[in-house]
Amino acid sequence: MNERRPVRVRYAPSPTGFPHIGNIRTALFNWLFARHSGGKFILRIEDTDQERRVEGAVEAIMGSLRWLGLDWDEGPEVGGPYGPYFQSQRLSIYQEAAQRLVTEGKAYYCFCSPQRLQEMRDEQRRLGKPPGYDRHCRELSLEEQSFMDSQGIVPVVRFKMPLDGETRFHDNIWGDVTFENSTLDDFVLLKSDGYPTYHLANICDDHLMEVSHVMRAEEWLSSTPRHCLLYEALGWEHPEFAHLPMILGPDRSKLSKRHGATGLLEYKEMGYLPEALINFLALLGWSLDDRTELFDREALIKGFSLERIGKTGAIFNIEKLNWMNGAYIRQLTPADLADRALPYLEDARNGLSRPVGMKRPLDRDYLLKIIPLIQDRARTLGRTAQDEGLVQLAEFFFVDDLDYDPKLLLGKHLTAEQSRSYLGTAIKRLADLTDFGAATLEGLLRPLSAELGVKTGDFFGLLRTATTGRTAAPPLFQTMEVLGKERCFKRLKAATQKLAAVGP
Ligand code: GLU
Repeated sequence: MNERRPVRVRYAPSPTGFPHIGNIRTALFNWLFARHSGGKFILRIEDTDQERRVEGAVEAIMGSLRWLGLDWDEGPEVGGPYGPYFQSQRLSIYQEAAQRLVTEGKAYYCFCSPQRLQEMRDEQRRLGKPPGYDRHCRELSLEEQSFMDSQGIVPVVRFKMPLDGETRFHDNIWGDVTFENSTLDDFVLLKSDGYPTYHLANICDDHLMEVSHVMRAEEWLSSTPRHCLLYEALGWEHPEFAHLPMILGPDRSKLSKRHGATGLLEYKEMGYLPEALINFLALLGWSLDDRTELFDREALIKGFSLERIGKTGAIFNIEKLNWMNGAYIRQLTPADLADRALPYLEDARNGLSRPVGMKRPLDRDYLLKIIPLIQDRARTLGRTAQDEGLVQLAEFFFVDDLDYDPKLLLGKHLTAEQSRSYLGTAIKRLADLTDFGAATLEGLLRPLSAELGVKTGDFFGLLRTATTGRTAAPPLFQTMEVLGKERCFKRLKAATQKLAAVGP
């Protein structure tokens, strides 16, 4: 392979579904490799399977790449000298290639009916034989072919696979790979509707678009010998290959819905930052030195190399992603975090399962005061199973009425009567304050707990539950300051009323 061939790589999704983590990891590795080597990153839509097309998939693919900042140099919407970049708009290219192979005796027309093929498969299964086309039409005479044509049967075009020998290629990750040709069947190149199969369209485009490296998921490794033989039959040099290791769930089986969300845009909805997700995805199969975990985009581009991609399956560990996302959230300026968090908080107000009555419109200045109190703890901008999402950490600042079990006000040691009386005194003393700053609050409430003869832990716990509805919240006095006098008062009073329901 020519070492100095300019790097041109592609991400070639089929719009048969919404992009998942695995697809976008492939896109990311291609993008990183292109950016690292000053090459081109191409987006090509492999939409030749018309039956499996999913509405909105192309938009979701582009939306995911854009959200992550994986810009493409050639492809839909940006164009480029090798277009069009939708395979459905390039059918004549594939038809001509298939025709050429037939003319050169390297491919043939197959007239087998779907019913015959089904019977063949059933028979193979019954006899425990490996599945594959039995080459029934491989040696049809011209007369037989004309007869079929005259019957109006539209053939498919199949590749004439060598019957023996082996196909060998080098993979940048897997090393030298060899397949026995006898295990490969005469696969279809062109379907009877004139659409190519993946194999034909894929290799024609990789050749015509001058793709230098094919980097894709491991599951395509077994298609590669077919591709190599096709390249050879067409007289073309094949690109380099790199098959990326599988992504596994924590139980080491292939990552799937069973392991939780796999759709890339679901991660956006859940409140992961694109920069954290990029960092996380980059480490699914690649590492710089087996140690470094946090990389910004520039560091990833600089450090990325094919040599450091491993063969072993990469484990998708959501805990690690949460940790990483938390680390990225902590690095944001409060203003940036507020801007990113606002849409999630807005959504939370509109969502069905959300507490009613979150103040509207959402006050950015108020949020800016809240951010420093929760930034360190937030792991996502949304919600997490461990209640560590920013929406969860922030929502008590916004709701009008807190919803909590009144018994929580008692903590471990207080009776309802005591709690009511302590709250009553606190309300009276607080009423006189003109300054509701954290220091003033502490200056008043700490001595008050001594005066009341109650342990600060119990007293502050009571105030915390009354003002936040939670037993664990950010530092009490800062929280009260941010909530402001009016909200605190309303909540303290509501708490005394709630206590009436608890009894003595
Ligand atoms: N269209 C194939 C896919 O959806 C592309 C595989 C390849 O990159 O060759 O994954």
